[in-house]
Amino acid sequence: MGGTAIEIAGAGPAGLAAAITLAGAGRQVIVHEAQGAVGYRFKRDLQGLENWTTRQDALVALQKQGLTIGFKRLPCRAGTVFDAWGKGYCIRSHEPLFYMVERGPGPDTLDTALLHQARELGVEVRFNSRVQHVQGPAIFATGPKAADAIAVGYHFDTRMPDGFWAICDDDLAPRGYAYLLVMGGKGTVKSCMFTGFKQEARYVERTVEAFQRLVGLEMIDPRPHGGVGNFRVPSTARSGTHAVVGEQAGFQDTLWGFGMRAAMTSGVLAAYSLLEGSDYDRKWRQELGELMATAAVNRALYSLLGNRGYRWLLRHQENRSDARELLHRYYRPSRVKRLLVPLARRRFESQRKDASCNHVDCSCVWCRHGRELHA
Ligand SMILES: Cc1cc2nc3c(=O)[nH]c(=O)nc-3n(C[C@H](O)[C@H](O)[C@H](O)COP(=O)(O)OP(=O)(O)OC[C@H]3O[C@@H](n4cnc5c(N)ncnc54)[C@H](O)[C@@H]3O)c2cc1C
Repeated sequence: MGGTAIEIAGAGPAGLAAAITLAGAGRQVIVHEAQGAVGYRFKRDLQGLENWTTRQDALVALQKQGLTIGFKRLPCRAGTVFDAWGKGYCIRSHEPLFYMVERGPGPDTLDTALLHQARELGVEVRFNSRVQHVQGPAIFATGPKAADAIAVGYHFDTRMPDGFWAICDDDLAPRGYAYLLVMGGKGTVKSCMFTGFKQEARYVERTVEAFQRLVGLEMIDPRPHGGVGNFRVPSTARSGTHAVVGEQAGFQDTLWGFGMRAAMTSGVLAAYSLLEGSDYDRKWRQELGELMATAAVNRALYSLLGNRGYRWLLRHQENRSDARELLHRYYRPSRVKRLLVPLARRRFESQRKDASCNHVDCSCVWCRHGRELHA
């Protein structure tokens, strides 16, 4: 690798985390971003930085990874989740269940904080630069390429208080959940669905109606917004010689679509594998493999529940004291969950086929060689 600049395709959380780690170790880094700004596909989306997969607090974990926490965030310890019959269940945790953050190019967002940190370390970020091929050392971080789930709804301004609300109802969000997040006068309402994408408009309409009825949703100047998510445990997260990170590799929580932490973690791991000359596949399998497999099992089980099952789950959690503890246990690998991995594979097949290319001289950012080779 020597003194050659390392190129990174994609300035999402995964690509910027990789860039920060490499630049922090004194490497010259160029990040190519296809759009004119960071976080373009999210504009001003509110998202949750989950805080249950690790015992360590998510913000402490980010700092330990060498990443900034200089973004606006709202620690979320209590909210309400409704069942399909409109009954609300209180979700509480002693420590934050998640941190609400804003995405996109705005001044307070996660993406802007990462961009500033990268630039301060000397990373060159080239906007409107869509990469097709890379010859030298590189990391690919270009986000999702197929829709295993979609989240569709609105961004809006509001006078509602800060908070989070969700509804588990297959008539609003099939096999997923509808959610409403409010922070500092900005809101996001979405139906996050894992099937039935063709009926998305109907599900969004029902989601908005339900939140209006249940919590008095107020939307000022609503703007439609939506996006797709990719989930899979890849057989390899390499494309040719290059590490693939974040959602491009499929790294994301398969149960509910919390992908930011896996994106940043995989970016940091890929950077270290380049710096050390170590095996990236081995690194992500150690750090993310079991978590991803457990989340896939959770998804398979969740998709069997239906509205009555969601209601049972909500009642069950209400009798437990701490939602973060409960979720931590659900996401913890166990013998039973390991035994259920084959079931999960059958129940949930990613739309992304594993066409990763293993031949060494591949330089494609989005490799199709696997498909050609297997055709
Ligand atoms: C509506 C919605 C809500 C979500 N809510 C949550 C949530 O609450 N919590 C959570 O943790 N996760 C959430 N996620 C998932 C999370 O946003 C993603 O998992 C995360 O952003 C993935 O980061 P990434 O860096 O891998 O990809 P991205 O954030 O998609 O970044 C990839 C970047 O690469 C650029 N790019 C693409 N192709 C090229 C190319 N050829 N050359 C150069 N650049 C390129 C893109 O423009 C983009 O900026 C949500 C996703 C959606 C769609």
